[in-house]
Amino acid sequence: MSLINRIETKKDDLIALTQALIRIPTLNPPGKNYHEICTLLDKRLKTHGFETQMIRAHGTPGDSDTYPRWNLVARRMGSHDGDCVHFNSHHDVVEVGQGWTRDPFGAEIEDDKIYGRGACDMKGGLASSIIAAEAFAEEFHSFYGAIEISATADEESGGYGGVAYLAEKGYFSPDRVQHVIIPEPLNKDRICLGHRGGWWAEIETKGEIAHGSMPFLGDCAVRHMGAVLNKFETDLFPAMAARYTEMPVVPKGARNSTMNINSVHGGQAEQPINYDGLPAHCVADSCRIVLDRRFLVEENIEDVRGEIVNLLENLKTSRDNFEYEMRELNVVLPSMTDRSAPVVETVHAAIESILGVEPTYVASPGSYDQKHIDRIGKLHNCIAYGPGELELAHKPDEWVGITDMLDSAKVMGNALETLLLKS
Ligand SMILES: [Zn+2]
Repeated sequence: MSLINRIETKKDDLIALTQALIRIPTLNPPGKNYHEICTLLDKRLKTHGFETQMIRAHGTPGDSDTYPRWNLVARRMGSHDGDCVHFNSHHDVVEVGQGWTRDPFGAEIEDDKIYGRGACDMKGGLASSIIAAEAFAEEFHSFYGAIEISATADEESGGYGGVAYLAEKGYFSPDRVQHVIIPEPLNKDRICLGHRGGWWAEIETKGEIAHGSMPFLGDCAVRHMGAVLNKFETDLFPAMAARYTEMPVVPKGARNSTMNINSVHGGQAEQPINYDGLPAHCVADSCRIVLDRRFLVEENIEDVRGEIVNLLENLKTSRDNFEYEMRELNVVLPSMTDRSAPVVETVHAAIESILGVEPTYVASPGSYDQKHIDRIGKLHNCIAYGPGELELAHKPDEWVGITDMLDSAKVMGNALETLLLKS
């Protein structure tokens, strides 16, 4: 039997595994049922000849005895020394949200689709990589190197209790792992090379409280923030719109630098929804905004931060009584794997051979766990490749296509043949 035929015979197993994974609601936040899903995978992979480790990310954000951050790493060694190919999937899913017409954790099948929260993002991808790896190990009793599968926590909340933790412990160091494929739902004929960076910060402008009938006796922080927002419109947004990346980011609008103003709040705290009293007449002594700035691989973080600090410092000289504070909330650096990297060339050839199409290169507007493998693990031979349509991620009635999963598993299996059947 060829590997491709062997994967074909595992279609029912692939469906059943995907359903079993969807039926465990690994909701994040708060981080539910991580132990249960890791245990299921641990048992399964042990019976298929993998050595497994369950690893709790003690002390990471959100980790507690109620919601422990569990991760699973499984490794199957070949018969000769060689490279290790690692498939990394996150096992957490986002909240269900409104608008479902199916049971979000029922894993119902209709036609060629399995429905459920996490079906495409990314339990379908996780199941596909497991089927590919198991089939490969059954087909080839002797191979070079090793195959690893990991199911990791908290990707949906930054990956600190998952891949970042494992990378810090050395699980992704280049002497241990040489090729990483992350089966995120980028579609079966596309290779995702990386993602943009992100910088999140809170800016507060300061004022002075006074009676609202005599605002000249105080100093309105909301007006100061208005000046900041005006500067964004006249200076910052046009400057960002002129920057264009060579990264193949989809959708194309995200090939420019972008910034979302996440929230703005000034003056008195908002009253509870059912409270119908009138506000007191006061001048706002504080106004805050939260910024979500996404940046390109061609920009560096010092410039991204510096551009906004300069704008604020200029307002200090041009505007009376302008005072501000800035608090950085988080930084994610961009990641971009070279098109000539071995894992890229291998999966490229596998897509051509299995699907008979030329793959498309893409990059992600938002980030995923590649950042930790690249920045902490120092491993630059990493891509995202997996079944499912990115547009369905986090939406109601999320689904993954059964044929797409099977095709992706074949591509992954073919990549394993290329990487592990020769020294
Ligand atoms: Zn995902």
